[in-house]
Amino acid sequence: MPRQDPKVRIKNFNEVALGYSREQAVREASRCLQCKKPFCIEGCPVEIDIPKFIKEIKNSNFSQAIATLKEKNNLPGVCGRVCPQESQCEKLCILAKKGQPISIGRLERFAADWEMKNDEVVASEVSRLSLRAKRSNLTRTVIPSEARNLKEIATSSPLLSCFIPPASLCEAKRGGENSKKGGLLAMTAKLKQKIAVIGSGPAGLTCAADLAKLGYAVTIFESLHSPGGVLAYGIPEFRLPKNIVKEEIASIKDLGVEIKTGMVVGKLFSVKELFSQGFTAIFVGVGAGLPQFLGIEGEWLNRVYSANEFLIRANLMKSYLFPEYETPLNVGRNVAVIGGGNVAMDSARVALRMGSKVTVIYRRSEEEMPARKEEYENAREEGIKFYFLVAPVKILGDKNNWVKGMELIKMKLGPPDSSGRPRPIPIKNSRFSLNFDTVVIAIGQRPNPLIPESTAELKIGRIGNIMVNEETGETNIKGLFAGGDITTGAATVISAMGAGKKAARAIDKYCQKR
Ligand code: FAD
Repeated sequence: MPRQDPKVRIKNFNEVALGYSREQAVREASRCLQCKKPFCIEGCPVEIDIPKFIKEIKNSNFSQAIATLKEKNNLPGVCGRVCPQESQCEKLCILAKKGQPISIGRLERFAADWEMKNDEVVASEVSRLSLRAKRSNLTRTVIPSEARNLKEIATSSPLLSCFIPPASLCEAKRGGENSKKGGLLAMTAKLKQKIAVIGSGPAGLTCAADLAKLGYAVTIFESLHSPGGVLAYGIPEFRLPKNIVKEEIASIKDLGVEIKTGMVVGKLFSVKELFSQGFTAIFVGVGAGLPQFLGIEGEWLNRVYSANEFLIRANLMKSYLFPEYETPLNVGRNVAVIGGGNVAMDSARVALRMGSKVTVIYRRSEEEMPARKEEYENAREEGIKFYFLVAPVKILGDKNNWVKGMELIKMKLGPPDSSGRPRPIPIKNSRFSLNFDTVVIAIGQRPNPLIPESTAELKIGRIGNIMVNEETGETNIKGLFAGGDITTGAATVISAMGAGKKAARAIDKYCQKR
C-alpha cells in the first residue's frame, strides 16, 4: 500500500498509509480464493463475512462491500487501519501458507474510505425521505407504511440500509415475525427498554450499536469530553485520522445511540443509581487507562510522562498544533521511550514528529516486541533508534529536577514467564548511563479502577479487572455486563469489539426474558 515518504512524514501528523486505489483494491480482492470453508472468518471476533465483502470489491460493488462489513462491524475504517489482522483473519487465510495472505485489513479500509468519499452521493439519494436530518426521530416515530418503504429501500440498496434508523429497519425487516401484533408495536415495546453503556471505546460503541440495531434505546456515558476511547485519545492522527473516528461514531449515533460526554460514572453517579434511573441493563466498557510505572528512582522528575498523559496531550488536546491549540506539551530534544508495544511506538513517533531525537528502550529482544510489525518497521524507517535487552534502573535529574539521563542495565533472556515470553534477567555489572531530557513510560496499562472500586459486591480479578463470563460478558451482578480492556487488561480494538458484540447479544436475551 502506498505510504508517505519517511523524510516527509516525520514532519507532519498526516496519515502515513495512503490506502489502496480502486484498481489496487480490485486487483487484491481478485486474489481471494473464495474458500468453501473460509478460515478467515474464524479469525474475526466480530464475525464479518470476509469472503463476501471481498467478492463485492472484486466485482466493483463497493456499496455492497461496505454494507456487508457494516452488518457486523460499525467501525470498519478504524479496524481497517489498526486491527492486527496479521495475527487474526489474515493469519488464517489459506494463502498465508504461501506467504502472501489477502490484505483483508487494507480492503476493509478501502471499502470504508469509499463509503466516506461517496457519502454525499448516497445522502442525496436518501434525502427524498429526509432520512439524514430525521434519523433519530424516525427511530421513535416511524409509521408502518413508511417502514415498508424503508424495507424496500434497504432491500434495493444495501448501502442505504446503513443510513436507515435501525429500529425502524429491523422492525420493518421483522415485519411482525417476532410479534403477532406487527412490527411497529414490537418496536415500540423494545424502545421502552433503556440500556446504559459506560465508556465510548470500541467495546462500548460496538455494544451500543448492536443493541440500537436491535431496537433498544441506548445511552453511552463517557467521562472525557470526546467519545472514542483510545481511538480518540491514544492512537495518533498519523495512524488513525480523527475524522475517520468521528465519522464512524456519527454513524453509530445515527443508529439512535445517544452519547453523553463529561459523565464520570462512579463519581457523578454510581452503577446502582443508573439502574434506579430506569436502565434495564448496563454494559461497562471503561477500558484500561491506568498507567503502570517502573517503580524506580526519579520517576517524579520534570519531563517524565506516562504514555497515557503524553498521548492524551498530543492527540486529544492537540498539543502538536500549538499555538493554534493552547495546550503545549513540554518535550525536550532527546527523548527515551520505555516499552515495546503499540503504545511505545505511538509515543516515540509522536515525539519524533514534535522535533525530538527518539530512542526506544525495551527489556526483551526485537522478536518479543508486542508492537505490530508494521508499526515497528514504520518507526525504524522514520529514524527511531532501538536499544534491545536493556532496562532502566534510575532516572537521573539535574539540580532543578529536570530529567538529564538514565541509568540502564543490560538483560539476557531466561525461561518463559507467566506471559509465555522469555523472562528478561539483569546481567550483573552491566550498568551504563545515557543522556536524555525526556522520558515516556509505555510499559502497559491496567483496568480503570473507578467502576470496580465504586460498585459494591462486583467481583474483581487479580489485575483489577472486572470478572465476567467470557461468552456473555455477564458479571456477578444481575443486569450488569462488561467487556473490553476492563475485563481483560490492555488488549486490542477488535477483541474489545468482539466482547461488546457478545455482550449485546446477551443483554438482548436478558431483556427479552424480563
Ligand atoms: P477504551 O478504548 O480504553 O475506552 C474506554 C472508555 O471509557 C474511554 O473513553 C474512557 O474515557 C471511558 N471511561 C473510563 N472510565 C469511565 C467512567 N468511570 N465513566 C465513564 N467513562 C469512562 N489495539 C489495536 O488493536 N491496534 C492498535 O494499533 C492499537 N494501538 C494502541 C495504541 C495506544 C496508544 C493504546 C493506548 C492502545 C492501543 N491499542 C491498539 C489497544 C486498544 O486501543 C484497546 O485495546 C481498546 O481501545 C480497548 O477498548 P475499550 O473499549 O475496552 O476501552
